[in-house]
Amino acid sequence: MTDDLNDEMAQASTAMFTQRSIDAIRAQVHTALPSKEICGCCGVNIPLDRQLAVPGVELCAGCQDVKERRDRHHPASKKGMRYV
Ligand SMILES: [Zn+2]
Repeated sequence: MTDDLNDEMAQASTAMFTQRSIDAIRAQVHTALPSKEICGCCGVNIPLDRQLAVPGVELCAGCQDVKERRDRHHPASKKGMRYV
């Protein structure tokens, strides 16, 4: 009897968690869609060409380049340090 109740509660909280995750992802996708006109890092104007070419762009080409190089230097952070 109590096991059934626990199962129901577990399912309910899992459903709530899943819904919250979906909401969070939706919010991220929604806020990521409009391109920024000004670089979020250095504050220069992002060329319209770049805004159109990269939907949701937040950084100018220079800052994006720096960010990608930095990400490449720390690939383990996304893979749970498995290869370290
Ligand atoms: Zn920049």
